[in-house]
Amino acid sequence: MKSHIDNNMFDVTIIGAGPAGCATALALQDSGLRVALIDKHIFPRDKVCGDAIPGRAITCLKEIYPSFSQELALLDKKLVTKSTACFYNNKTVEFNWVQEAYTSTRMDFDNFLFSIVKTKTQVEIFEGIEIGDITKSENGFYVHARNSKIVFATIMIIGADGINGITAKKLAGYQIDRKHHVASVRAYYKNIDDVKETRTEIYFDKKYLPGYFWIFPLKDNVSNVGFGMLSEDVAQKKINIKKSFYDFIERSPALKEKFKPAEQEGKLMGCGLPLGSKWVSMSGDNFILTGDAASLIDPASGSGIGNAVLSGKLAAEQVLKCFAEKNFSANFIKAYDKKLYKMIGAELKRNGFALKYLSRIPFFINLGFSLGKSNFLKKFVK
Ligand SMILES: Cc1cc2nc3c(=O)[nH]c(=O)nc-3n(C[C@H](O)[C@H](O)[C@H](O)COP(=O)(O)OP(=O)(O)OC[C@H]3O[C@@H](n4cnc5c(N)ncnc54)[C@H](O)[C@@H]3O)c2cc1C
Repeated sequence: MKSHIDNNMFDVTIIGAGPAGCATALALQDSGLRVALIDKHIFPRDKVCGDAIPGRAITCLKEIYPSFSQELALLDKKLVTKSTACFYNNKTVEFNWVQEAYTSTRMDFDNFLFSIVKTKTQVEIFEGIEIGDITKSENGFYVHARNSKIVFATIMIIGADGINGITAKKLAGYQIDRKHHVASVRAYYKNIDDVKETRTEIYFDKKYLPGYFWIFPLKDNVSNVGFGMLSEDVAQKKINIKKSFYDFIERSPALKEKFKPAEQEGKLMGCGLPLGSKWVSMSGDNFILTGDAASLIDPASGSGIGNAVLSGKLAAEQVLKCFAEKNFSANFIKAYDKKLYKMIGAELKRNGFALKYLSRIPFFINLGFSLGKSNFLKKFVK
């Protein structure tokens, strides 16, 4: 094994180059640490998502990387999001976004972030390397590639490998919990009628509560269209999520009309969302989990990119403290979990409650829509 690891001894190994991994890498750029960023894909790569890049991600990236705004201005393939309209039972509520937010395909946005890490930092990049195993070493871990003989020796691991990665299972022993997991599908459509470039749309249907259907506009008259439901309900009600996606359009006269001129581009693709409604331990001796690997998706909105970036930022701050104090113990690293909980724990819990209980009851949805029309609720949502 030694011959393979001689050149691959790192202080920090980040597994996964999505928003969480790239945020961590950017935040460690001036640390003086030897950092590896590994991804199983060669970028640009797709990631099944709604492609809505939330304000929290943009704000956080600006904090991590001061010239982020200038870089973002060069990303051509994005649309500014100014509002979200919600539709239920012939009622509509529209909320304005206060923070700077965008839509951009993950193919484009993730490649944009990854390119900044590649070209503007000293972080060492390993693309097309899938991690298949992690074993303990004297000073941390050995990280073993599945598809090559490369072995990385590292003091710390940052797990940023998303919902189907290895770190959450291997280091923290996580399994999917259907009560805190959404099953979801999405497809790209061209030429949907009456889509406003600056407005994302969300639809509810009594049959599918607490799930929802979305239309998020992208560049060139293409939209990201998707549908998601709590996995517990999908299993209990024996719902076929792909069939339900098309059924959702068929059941709504307004959607049927909108989709008349539309053409689906490519396949309907599925992927799960690990929700932050159940707070789990996100760290241990020599490791930290971030983003989807740490189950940080907002249960109410399905938004996870913002929390992925925020957790990457906090993980990097904790890494710096670990190296400064030469302390890599679970006890010391727990400060990361605590800080993250302080920042978003209450919000995730509250939104988990809203998803599980309130949105199942059409009365509350109707009430929410009535309140939404008044300035009372808008005050809180903005
Ligand atoms: C249908 C759907 C719609 C969504 N819509 C939105 C939305 O509109 N807005 C929003 O904010 N969030 C949305 N989300 C959530 C969002 O996609 C995630 O929260 C976000 O991608 C998490 O980022 P991440 O960096 O943690 O993980 P990811 O983006 O999943 O990145 C993980 C990376 O790790 C790599 N990797 C995985 N395993 C390995 C391995 N063994 N070895 C090496 N590399 C590995 C992968 O190739 C990938 O590049 C949606 C999710 C789904 C499923």
